[in-house]
Amino acid sequence: MLIGNPAENRLLSSLPAEDLKLMRRHLRNAVLASQSILFETDDHIGKAYFPHRGAISLVTVLASGQMVENATIGRDGMLGGFAALDGQPATCRAIVHIEGTASTIDMESLRQIARARNAVEAMLLRHERALLAQTQQVAACNASHALEARLCRWLLRARDACGGTTLSSTQEAIAEMLSVRRTSISLVAHTLQQAGLIRTRRGHIEILNEQALRDSACECYVATAARHERLFTSTGPQGDGMQAGREISLGNSAVADLRS
Ligand SMILES: [Zn+2]
Repeated sequence: MLIGNPAENRLLSSLPAEDLKLMRRHLRNAVLASQSILFETDDHIGKAYFPHRGAISLVTVLASGQMVENATIGRDGMLGGFAALDGQPATCRAIVHIEGTASTIDMESLRQIARARNAVEAMLLRHERALLAQTQQVAACNASHALEARLCRWLLRARDACGGTTLSSTQEAIAEMLSVRRTSISLVAHTLQQAGLIRTRRGHIEILNEQALRDSACECYVATAARHERLFTSTGPQGDGMQAGREISLGNSAVADLRS
């Protein structure tokens, strides 16, 4: 059953055709079930995810069990890039916040392809840099900005990640991500709904007025979105211009594909 197309992920579709073709040989479709945990802190990361739809939250879990979201990953990003580059275990929990689908690739294949193909390695590096920037911005946002502005920022980022204006999420789940009380989110969401910015219904939040939502969001949405967009426009020394394969050691299936 075809449940998604790798080209729906902007990172994959930004790759040169030859590299995407190579990646496709190793990609598998996967369903991202709501609230499923893809890995825990300190877990070995066995595969990377390139979402087509839906959103994955990177969260820090405190000793009390309280979660705080560090970043939202969707069709304009990927999960597991650092592990492909350095093989180190996870530094936080990855949980599906909004259900969807993704292309997955086993980590060893991705690692071998990244070693062999400059454009793939450059994509991973640029993405992890953008992800780091997002986590830094979110940390500053959570420490400094009002809840209404933070909620608007979160909704816009989730919209970008999912690629749609109707988000399958609940106020309770969003409150957990922003580490605030459910009643606080309900109050702010009610205000936004009264002003015609969003519409909430059971299990869904619909964005009705994007511009007004942008106007009400803090600077953090635009800052994160701009840095993220550079993923797809970068032409730096490790950017899309370098497509050539490298000389690498033989003896693994991923790289063997390069020569097939
Ligand atoms: Zn902010």
